[in-house]
Amino acid sequence: MFQELTASFIDGRIQGASQSRRELIDPAAEEVFHAVSEAGQTDVARVAVAADRAWRKEWRDLAPGKRAELLFRLAELIEQNADQLAQLDSRSMGKPLASARGEVMAGARTFRYYAGALSFPAGDVIPVARGGFDFTIRQPLGVVACIVPWNFPFAIACWKTAPALAAGNAVLLKPAAASPLGALALGRLAMEAGLPAGILQVLVGSGAEMGDALVSDPHVRKVSFTGSTEVGRHVMRTAAQDFTRVSLELGGKSPNIIFADSDWEKAADSAPLAVFDNTGQDCCARSRVFVEASIHKAFLVRFVESARRLRVGSPADPDTELGPLVSKGRRDAVEAFVEGARRSGRVIHCGGERPAGRGFYYPPTIITGVETTDECWREEIFGPVACVRAFTNEDEMLAEVNASPFGLSASIWTRDLNRALRVSRRVESGVVSINCHNSVHIEAPFGGFKHSGMGRDLGLAALEGFSELKNIYIDA
Ligand code: NAP
Ligand code: MG
Repeated sequence: MFQELTASFIDGRIQGASQSRRELIDPAAEEVFHAVSEAGQTDVARVAVAADRAWRKEWRDLAPGKRAELLFRLAELIEQNADQLAQLDSRSMGKPLASARGEVMAGARTFRYYAGALSFPAGDVIPVARGGFDFTIRQPLGVVACIVPWNFPFAIACWKTAPALAAGNAVLLKPAAASPLGALALGRLAMEAGLPAGILQVLVGSGAEMGDALVSDPHVRKVSFTGSTEVGRHVMRTAAQDFTRVSLELGGKSPNIIFADSDWEKAADSAPLAVFDNTGQDCCARSRVFVEASIHKAFLVRFVESARRLRVGSPADPDTELGPLVSKGRRDAVEAFVEGARRSGRVIHCGGERPAGRGFYYPPTIITGVETTDECWREEIFGPVACVRAFTNEDEMLAEVNASPFGLSASIWTRDLNRALRVSRRVESGVVSINCHNSVHIEAPFGGFKHSGMGRDLGLAALEGFSELKNIYIDA
């Protein structure tokens, strides 16, 4: 599959814009394994025109049942090609092959969910004072841009593309420069499923180079973005000029809160994957661990033991739980956070040393003794680093949880139902998990408060986000 995926997928076929060539690096081997020609600013306009034309002609007025049929077929094709698709992103960004395969299957389920959602009632009938007949309908926006990061490249491409297409829009999908292949393959599979050419196009290229052209293109009615808070702020500013709609899923610094009355052994055993999974490159990573003081010591011992058991290794090895970081730059950034903590005299319980040998690896690292002003406590590290602090008072703990500008996810461990509900309400985050760490359900809305973004992916909320609400009144 690799060999054919060499440029953008425009108007139904792979075609080189050959603005520049980018070599893709396998982060486990530190070796170039593929190259793509990238699209630039000047390609964006013609691709957006093709999308708008295809949308008006072939998609806007297509019956929802027909759209659903095509999306169900796409879900099937994704599943049939799961092994190959998993290879593409695993090789580009280093996640274990088994996780990459899980992500592909989740992508297929996402298409199936939105295809199914098209057969449910949508809209309201509203009893208005004037007495006539008032009702709402949802209409597609037109052409939408979906910009995705490299950490869950296939899943997030599907989270955005599936509801956008289901709602009747044409999609310009821009994968991260480091991981374009799964998205490109998705574009080709969509054609194979029978979607008209131009309805799902994939622009391979650098965000810094062509991002502004994409966000400000006059045909683009909405930008659905997942990535860093910094780029999200820039996208929102650029989009404001034309009132282009935005939905932003940004960074996080999510808390894992463990009360003494909880099944804290289970919490300790699950805490490592809650923060270190995907080698910590997860916007929901529970990287700030708050433990009630009476169990702090015992919890920490068990957390460190479980973290040490995680198998770090080659993404291709079926036993591997954690692969390398995506790039040298990312690995160096993670190392700098840990070195900063070490210089400040913080206690490093496991990890904390870059291993010798090939690959951008960094081991799971747990730090204690941190102050709330420490960089490693406040900033998103986006790597396998967790900081643990003890608390004695619920209100004080919550104040510190909410002191973060981020607000994406949170885990709360307690057996006290009242406390679980009270704390869930008061935590400023878009997603809360009680006695577990599951943040993502295809059927439920996902997104953040505050600097973690605005708008929601997944669930029916995403379908609404990709449409305009229209009110129609019939005098009677
Ligand atoms: P990023 O640099 O913000 O990149 C995200 C995407 O935006 C990439 O496709 C990137 O393209 C593109 N981009 C870069 N500059 C752009 C511009 N000026 N205009 C338009 N698009 C532009 O983020 P990242 O470093 O890849 O990903 C890590 C971040 O994403 C973390 O902060 C993480 O928390 C966040 N994230 C959030 C969620 C969530 O759901 N909330 C999920 C995953 C990740 P290039 O690759 O070409 O630069
Ligand atoms: Mg970036």
